[in-house]
Amino acid sequence: MSKPFATVNVLGLDFINTTNQAFLEQLKKDCQTKNNRFIVTANPEIVLAAKNDLHYALALKTADYITPDGIGIIKGAKILKTPLPERITGFDTLCALLEFASQTKKKIFLLGAKPNVIKQAVENVATNYPGAIICGYHDGYFKDEQAVVNQIKNANPDMVFVALGFPKQEYFIKNHRQVAPALWMGVGGSFDVLAGVAKRAPQFWINLHLEWFYRLLKEPSRFIRMLALPKYLLLVYRKRFLNK
Ligand code: UDP
Repeated sequence: MSKPFATVNVLGLDFINTTNQAFLEQLKKDCQTKNNRFIVTANPEIVLAAKNDLHYALALKTADYITPDGIGIIKGAKILKTPLPERITGFDTLCALLEFASQTKKKIFLLGAKPNVIKQAVENVATNYPGAIICGYHDGYFKDEQAVVNQIKNANPDMVFVALGFPKQEYFIKNHRQVAPALWMGVGGSFDVLAGVAKRAPQFWINLHLEWFYRLLKEPSRFIRMLALPKYLLLVYRKRFLNK
């Protein structure tokens, strides 16, 4: 594939250097021409995980597009003097693609989250994006992976959204994307938001670049995971000033 976007490297991952709008246009084109595409929306936690785990880093290298989800990536790119224009989040991209699917009657497959959550998410998607064809769904706590893969294959979707959290969702996509010429995107906790079980931060917090802090207040158990943020920033500064 000829790469439609220039990239910016932040601690080992190549982020597309583009805007939400241009990215979405590209995804629509990919979808219309049935290109098989693997989209990763990465935050500092994912950058660190890839730095510490070669196997995961290699899986991410097979992605077609890695977008800067999380303000930490935007800040990191700026500190490294290779700025990126804006965040491209998994949730915003998911909603934009659902809207596109609704307008163009595309087939979507939703995989992941708890059984009651995925059911509610599917109901809400059917209501809010009535033109989209939900050709299949499954919760994210399956034992028989091959059965789920077969279900996706038989459904022949145009888009597959995988909400298993990282790194599971990226491994799943890397291992199985060849069964359908679709857009495959890992969407983390997005189904919980679509189902109304979790809330995304209000725009006010997002504008202040404090979405991560809002999530911490809502889910204090994320504290340990969030220790990745200062560690990540330290590595960015080390790269910038010591180039290692
Ligand atoms: N999940 C899943 N199967 C698993 C582990 C997690 O379906 O084996 C789901 C979980 O129910 C949640 C999502 O994956 O809906 C992960 O959410 P989290 O907030 O951790 O993702 P993040 O956006 O932070 O990566």
